[in-house]
Amino acid sequence: MTALLEIDLAAIAANWRYLAGMNRGETAAVVKADAYGLGAARVAPALAQAGCGIFFTAHLAEAVALREALPPPARILTLNGLAPHAAAEFLRHRITPVLATLEDVARWRRAARSGERPLPAFLHFDTGMNRLGLGAREAAALRDDPALLEGIGVAAVMSHFIAAEAPEDPRNARQLEDFLALAAGFPGARRSLANSPGMFLGPEFHLDLTRPGAALYGLNTSPAQPAPMAPAVRLSAPILQIHDVPPGGEVGYGGSWRAARPSRIATIGAGYADGLHRALSNQGHACFDDTPVPLVGRVSMDLAMFDVTDVPANPGDTLVLLGARHGADELAREAGTIGYEILTSLGRRYQRRYLGA
Ligand SMILES: *Cc1c(COP(=O)(O)O)cnc(C)c1O
Repeated sequence: MTALLEIDLAAIAANWRYLAGMNRGETAAVVKADAYGLGAARVAPALAQAGCGIFFTAHLAEAVALREALPPPARILTLNGLAPHAAAEFLRHRITPVLATLEDVARWRRAARSGERPLPAFLHFDTGMNRLGLGAREAAALRDDPALLEGIGVAAVMSHFIAAEAPEDPRNARQLEDFLALAAGFPGARRSLANSPGMFLGPEFHLDLTRPGAALYGLNTSPAQPAPMAPAVRLSAPILQIHDVPPGGEVGYGGSWRAARPSRIATIGAGYADGLHRALSNQGHACFDDTPVPLVGRVSMDLAMFDVTDVPANPGDTLVLLGARHGADELAREAGTIGYEILTSLGRRYQRRYLGA
């Protein structure tokens, strides 16, 4: 009896359509990390069917794997730059690199030399995050010396928000301003700045192309606003066994939870190896029907226990770990992390079922 992970492709497509509808420019989809753990090979074609034409992975290997499910004209880009000696493989699979350093640019320029047509690329500018991307000086070097971009067709320029989930954060407007100044050096290129929370900052942040990921998968990335995204994930696990624990009885490794009353403790077959973070020990909840039941004791690698004393649960009944009522955002709060990390750590051991395909 294994836990069941249901992924609602129709909800993901509906979320994309919602974002595309509020967007002034084009709406891409970020499907890195196997579409945030949900399965890029299933998610991306569903999005393509909904009308999405541009997909971002992080790594080349992800992009190449995705290419099988997503033939041209769908455009696939890699966010993490162009590694040494990788250009030939980009070309072979028609993957477009997002160039993040002058070395990346030089590699793509050399690859372009052998062909007749310019090779498309995006340029990534760093506007304050100091994570990945060309700085202002490097961007100016490219603007002022066209030879550096010889043979490269700059299809778009992009940057990334530091704190878009906080709408009042002054860095959002400052980054927009700095990005527009850099982008002005590349007049033919489209401009892309907004991730999911960036899209909720307002239409002036949308520019020509937005890059939502998390919101597609039902996460609420702008906690200040009511969540408009449809839940896309349901994770449920059957109860393997119920223990009647007398007052004083201990649960799990170290006995970190001790019954204060006669208790019924349900065990499910999912643990931290399946993405139930160990930080959920004595912190998390699941739902029985619509009633929250607390996770008690330490989460084990393959098992976790819940106090079902107050609900009529029996072995074989299911507890819902992720659902409409208590989703990845809520579980993340209980684990002290973000919904992104909950989804991307879901693990490989669940039975998976895709809905709405
Ligand atoms: C991951 C990522 C995105 C998508 O971000 P979400 O917050 O999931 O919408 C967009 N752009 C870049 C550069 C990223 O790394």
